[in-house]
Amino acid sequence: MEVHVQLLTQTKIFCGCSTRFGAPPNTNVCPVCLGLPGALPVLNRKAVEFAVLAAMALNCRINQTSIFARKNYFYPDLPKGYQISQFDQPLAEHGYLELESGSARKQIGITRLHLEEDAGKSLHEIPGQDGRSSSGEHSFIDLNRSGVPLIEIVSDPEIGTPDEAYQYLTRLKEIILYTGVSDVNMEEGSLRCDANVSVRPRGRPEFGAKVEVKNVNSFRFIKQALEYEIERQIGVLESGGGIVQETRLYNPAEGKTYGMRSKEQAHDYRYFPDPDLLPLVVDKAWQAEIRSRLPELPESRRSRLIAQYGISRQDAHTLTLTRDLADQFETAARAAKNPQRVASLVANELMGRLRTRNLEIEQSPISMAGVAQSADLVESGAISGKMLKDLYDLAFERNQDFPAVYEKEKPQQITDVAAIEKIIEDVLAANPAQLEQYRGGKKTVFGFFVGQVMRASKGQANPGLVNELLRKKLEN
Ligand SMILES: [Zn+2]
Repeated sequence: MEVHVQLLTQTKIFCGCSTRFGAPPNTNVCPVCLGLPGALPVLNRKAVEFAVLAAMALNCRINQTSIFARKNYFYPDLPKGYQISQFDQPLAEHGYLELESGSARKQIGITRLHLEEDAGKSLHEIPGQDGRSSSGEHSFIDLNRSGVPLIEIVSDPEIGTPDEAYQYLTRLKEIILYTGVSDVNMEEGSLRCDANVSVRPRGRPEFGAKVEVKNVNSFRFIKQALEYEIERQIGVLESGGGIVQETRLYNPAEGKTYGMRSKEQAHDYRYFPDPDLLPLVVDKAWQAEIRSRLPELPESRRSRLIAQYGISRQDAHTLTLTRDLADQFETAARAAKNPQRVASLVANELMGRLRTRNLEIEQSPISMAGVAQSADLVESGAISGKMLKDLYDLAFERNQDFPAVYEKEKPQQITDVAAIEKIIEDVLAANPAQLEQYRGGKKTVFGFFVGQVMRASKGQANPGLVNELLRKKLEN
């Protein structure tokens, strides 16, 4: 896999132009990123720090000295006629990330991570101001993206199946997101990936000819494209044909890949060191400074949450989807009596409702403080699980936080002494073994009885009164 990730710097990699997405075409440009003659690049320090941080999160070795190189090719959206990239001396190498399926772990090596600039964008169809479509008549160039900093992350050829490719991308995206160096938003193009696919007969050591599948714009489509492409290659080989090394595009509507250019038309980039830029030196001191900013990463956070709060691995996965969600969960878990209950409420009741409504966690009407309160109410028996679900539904319906909904809807309390005494008698009669334990001196069973009474009253008995009457009853 070759993955390009756009870094979240304020300005471009070699000039001071803004990187803001969605600005009017050709407004974030200057002589440097327009490639005007005589303009000279100046490296953005922040871009280097972000790239190093990402490389560290992916367990890469940082090269103290790396070299910027010119990758030469002609394309209308590349005004200089070359892209500044890194070639034989990249910023970082020899990393890895870990895939997990069930209890099995698999490491996928990361060959290299290097810095480069983005190209501009060709628009082949935009609606004209007078309502006429430009389609087929003109193409347009928007150079706002020209010079936006990218990292390219290349994996070792160790990904064995389309499913592993999907997992690899998911893990990569998650790690990058935690470092905060990119928003890895596929729709806005801040994460793009190309896959190199080859098949080989079982037992044969060498790889077959590779086919590059380019510009697929979702992880799901990549998985589908790989599934199709692998079958296609096997079909060609089994019918006696040969695989041509080429670049193919995936058409998600048809679920097929199509040849774009063959090897004969492939580029010879004639890389050479860029004479306008000094070697990039990231010395040990600078590396240490950047490393100190490395946050806790998703996998270690999952392990810690499992150990610290006693939650399941599956809940831990849901709760660490983003750093923000994990932070929010921990805030709620610390505030509540039972962190496991908070975890399962977030993972099931909250996330489930967000998913069906296509909402992000930031858009949830129920805050983490609300989740903590609701967990405590169930824990104390003040509300039942069924009631909690109803209250969550109401919170989403009214777009109100849990405490507000609960205040309005909370069950009418039973304060009638005779009624509560009746429930207590029933509970004691139904639990003779526990009653005997209590009488035998095991006073902790008291809490069990309180819970049972609250449950039997559907959470409506006044808890203070229950405690008082229960104590009186048991002491007699
Ligand atoms: Zn510029």
